[in-house]
Amino acid sequence: MDNKHLEDWLRDAHAMEKQAEKMLKSQASRLEHYPALQRRIEEHVTETQNQSIKLEQCLSLLGSDASAMKDMGGQLSAFGQAVGGMMAEDEVVKGGLASYAFEHFEIASYKAIIKASEMASQPEIAHLCNEILQEEIAMADWLSQNLNDTTRTFLERDSENLRAKT
Ligand code: MG
Ligand code: FE
Repeated sequence: MDNKHLEDWLRDAHAMEKQAEKMLKSQASRLEHYPALQRRIEEHVTETQNQSIKLEQCLSLLGSDASAMKDMGGQLSAFGQAVGGMMAEDEVVKGGLASYAFEHFEIASYKAIIKASEMASQPEIAHLCNEILQEEIAMADWLSQNLNDTTRTFLERDSENLRAKT
């Protein structure tokens, strides 16, 4: 089996992680009232940077030049707008929804890549991508658990602000 689709999907994943890094950084910078969420996102920035490196390793295992990376900013701009450039007053909640969805997009992407690398007899790629997959699952679970807290904190802060104004 040729590796054309596997290579394509690894490139897509690399672009996805570059986009993720930008979104997570901009999100983390605006979460001073949500320290636990901020800390977890900063941790995931580090994981995300390592994921990009792992994907470059995967591509070189296929003999592919990892420098010719495509830019998927366009394709993922819906997430980018929801997470990265948010100025809405309830941005922390909107961002929580978008991040949760984004992590699941990543999970689905790595599942397809792992299946493709197994079929292409590329166990090292499957192994590296499974490590990444576990980090995405852990992040998705954490965000899922945290969404109640974030929503409650946001609504409490919001009603305090309203009371202060009246
Ligand atoms: Mg990732
Ligand atoms: Fe992620």
